Amino acid sequence: MSTFPPSTVLGYPRIGPRRELKRALESYWSGHSTRADLDRAGAELRERTWRRLAELGLHGLPSNTFSLYDQVLDTAVLLGAVPERYRDAADPYFAMARGTEGLAPLRMTKWFDTNYHYIVPEIEPGTVFKLDASKVLGEVREARALGFETRPVIVGPVTFLLLGSALDRLEDVLGCYEELLAALAAEGVAWVQLDEPALVGDRTPEELAAVRTAYERLGAVPSRPGLFVASYFGELGESLPVLAGTPVEAIGLDLVRGGLPAADLTGKIVVAGVVSGRDVWRTSPGRALSLLGALQGAQVVVSTSCSLLHVPYTLADEPELEAGLRGRLAFAEEKVAEVVALAEAHARGAAPGTPAGIAPGTPAGISAGGPASGALLWDDDEPSVELSWDEEPSVALLPETGPASAEAVEPAGERSPYPVRAAAQAEHLRLPPLPTTTIGSFPQTGELRAARAAVAAGTLSQADYERRVEAEIERVIRLQERLGLDVLVHGEPERNDMVQYFAEHFDGFAVTRNGWVQSYGSRCTRPPILHGDVSRPEPITVRWARYAQSLTSQPVKGMLTGPVTIVAWSFVRDDLPLRDVVFQVADAIRQEVRDLEAAGVSIIQVDEPALRELLPLRRADQAAYLEWAVAAYRRATSGAGDRTQIHTHLCYSDADQILAAIDGLDADVTTIESARSGARILGAVSTFGRGLGPGVYDIHSPRVPSAEEVESLLRRTLTALPVERVWVNPDCGLKTRTYEEVEASLANVVTATRHLRTTL
Ligand code: GLN
Ligand code: ZN
Repeated sequence: MSTFPPSTVLGYPRIGPRRELKRALESYWSGHSTRADLDRAGAELRERTWRRLAELGLHGLPSNTFSLYDQVLDTAVLLGAVPERYRDAADPYFAMARGTEGLAPLRMTKWFDTNYHYIVPEIEPGTVFKLDASKVLGEVREARALGFETRPVIVGPVTFLLLGSALDRLEDVLGCYEELLAALAAEGVAWVQLDEPALVGDRTPEELAAVRTAYERLGAVPSRPGLFVASYFGELGESLPVLAGTPVEAIGLDLVRGGLPAADLTGKIVVAGVVSGRDVWRTSPGRALSLLGALQGAQVVVSTSCSLLHVPYTLADEPELEAGLRGRLAFAEEKVAEVVALAEAHARGAAPGTPAGIAPGTPAGISAGGPASGALLWDDDEPSVELSWDEEPSVALLPETGPASAEAVEPAGERSPYPVRAAAQAEHLRLPPLPTTTIGSFPQTGELRAARAAVAAGTLSQADYERRVEAEIERVIRLQERLGLDVLVHGEPERNDMVQYFAEHFDGFAVTRNGWVQSYGSRCTRPPILHGDVSRPEPITVRWARYAQSLTSQPVKGMLTGPVTIVAWSFVRDDLPLRDVVFQVADAIRQEVRDLEAAGVSIIQVDEPALRELLPLRRADQAAYLEWAVAAYRRATSGAGDRTQIHTHLCYSDADQILAAIDGLDADVTTIESARSGARILGAVSTFGRGLGPGVYDIHSPRVPSAEEVESLLRRTLTALPVERVWVNPDCGLKTRTYEEVEASLANVVTATRHLRTTL
C-alpha cells in the first residue's frame, strides 16, 4: 500500500469564492448558457481549488468533492440509482434535484446536524444498481492533467444506504463499489476516501454487521486503492472497533467533536481531524498537537474534522472584519494552512518524548493546553480550553442563566392554556375556516438587493432605501389582497436573510461580506459570526410591521426568527455553553415580540426551522437538547398575551423525531413542510391539539401546483385533522421564487381552498 500523504482535508467548498458556480448553474437552468458552459465553469473551479490547496502546501488533495448540486445525488448517479421517471428528462440529474414541468424532484433533507441539504436517494426493491464511474474517473484524470494526484471522495455504502433507508440492498451496492475500486486501481489511484458519517450515530447490531460485511468485502478486492473510511460530526463509538477489525487501511476521526479513539488502532493510519470544519475559529495549536501526540501506535495524518464545505473560502476576502475578531478566525484557506503547519510541527516533534498524556476516551475539546511549540504560525493568545457543542456540561450542571424546564419558563400569569387563548384569538381575529396564509417572505427583487448594496456603498440614502422597502411592502400587501389571502405578511423585503438580518441588528454578532456557505444546490447563506454577548439595542421589525398593517384591514403577521435557528445558522462562540447563547438570543426575541404586540400586531410568527438541525446525533444527548431548545422558544414567545396568536414554522423537520418538542413549543399555529414528505409528516403532527398548516406545495421547485392538486392535498389533510385546526399555506417562504410563479401558485391555493370551503 502506498503511504498516505501527511496532511489532507476531507473536502472543500465548491460554490466558488464569489459563488461562481451559483451563477453558472442559474444561467444554465434559465437557458442563458449551455451545458458545456456549465461544465467549463465547474472545471475552472476544480482547477482553482487543486492549485490553491497545493499552493498552501497541502499534500493529500481530494477529488470528486466538487458537485454540480450534491454529493449524495452524485453517489446515486454513480451507483445507477436513477428512478425510472427521470430517465427521459432532458437533464436527469437536475430533474432529480429540482424537478421539471410535471415531475416533482426527489426529497431533500438536512445533512446530519448541518444546514447543508442533500437529495435523499430513492431506492426501491426494483432499483437496479449499475456503476457509472465517469464523474469520479473524470475528476481524477482532470487533476492528473494538471499535475495533481488526487484521492477521490465518495459517500460510503453504509451511509448511502442508510440515507436511502435501504440497507437491505447492501449486497447489490457492494458489487458496484467493488467494481469502482477495481476501476480506480486500474487508473492508478492510490487512495480512495469513503465517507461514512452515519457511523457516528447510534447503530444497531445489524447495521454494525453491515459495516463489517461492507469493509471486509471491499478490503478483499484483489487490486484496489488504499481504503480510507472517513467519519465526521462526532465520535465513532461502537462502530470504531468494527471498522478497526476490517482491512481498511486508514480511518478518519473527528477529534474536535469526538474523543481520542478507545479502540486499538495499531497498524492503521489515523486521519486525525484536529482542525474543525464546522466552525470559523482558529485551532489551538497546543491542543491539536497534544491530540496528535496522543495517537500513539498509529501512523498519523493531519486533517480537518470534516469537509470544509461548511465554512467560507477565505478571510482574505473580508476587509471589513474588526481586527480583534479577525485574529480569532480561520476560514477554509486559513484552516488548510493550519493543517499544513500542524503536520509540519507534528513531524518535527514526532520523535520519542512527544507529549502524550491524554488518556483514550478523553474528550478532545477539554484537554489541557499541551505544549505550545514556538515554531508554530499562531500567536499564542487563544484560550487553551475550547468547548465544542457536544462537550458541554449537561443541562443540570449549568449555571442558572435560564430556566431548566419548560414549565419554569412561564412565570404564573403568562399565556393561558390553549383553549382559552384560542377562544380569545377567534373572537379577535374572526378568520374563515381553512385560513390561507404564507410563510413570510415574498420574492426578493434584484432592485431591492441592488438598493441594499447601494446603501452599503453610500450611493443611496437610508431614507430613499426605506421608501423603496415601503413601496415593496405595499405591492406585496396589494398582491395578497388581490389574491384573496386571509392572513397577510409584509413579505420581508428589508431582510437579506432571516438570520443575518437579526444578527445585523443585535449586539454580539459580526457579519461577513463574502462568507458564503452552500445550503443546497446553488443556494448559499452567509452565516453571521456570534462572538459576544447578544442583546437587542432597539426594536428591529416593528417599524415595518406597523407600516404593513396600516395598509390593510386584513391581519398582517409579524415575522421573527427563533432563537435556536438564529444560533444554528450562525457560527457561534465556543467559550459559552450553546444553551446559554440560545437563551441570550431568546431574551432579545422576547423583547421584540412584546414590542410588536404593543404596536398592535395580533399574529406573530416565530420561525424555528432549525430545531431539528441541532438535535445531537446520539440519542443519549437528545432529550437534554430538546428540553432547553423548547424552553428557549417559550422564553422568546411567552411574553405575548392570550389574544396574540403565535405561529411557528419548521421546514424539512423530520417531525417524527422531534414531535414532542414541536408540540412543546406550544405555538397556536404550526406550519410545517409536508408537500415533499407527504402523509408521513401529517400522521406525525396530527396529534397536536392546536392549529396546523401542513404545506400544500413545495416552494423549492419552480413548479406551479394546480388547484386540483392543492385541493386533493387538503382533502388528505382533512382526513387526519379536524377542519377547525387546519391552515392553508405553502411549505416555506417564497423569497427564492419569481413573482410569476408565486402569483400563479397562490391563486391556485386560494381557488382550491374556496372550493373546498363550499363543500364543508
Ligand atoms: N419566514 C421565513 C420566510 O418566509 C421562513 C423561512 C424558512 O423557514 N426557512 O422566508
Ligand atoms: Zn421553511
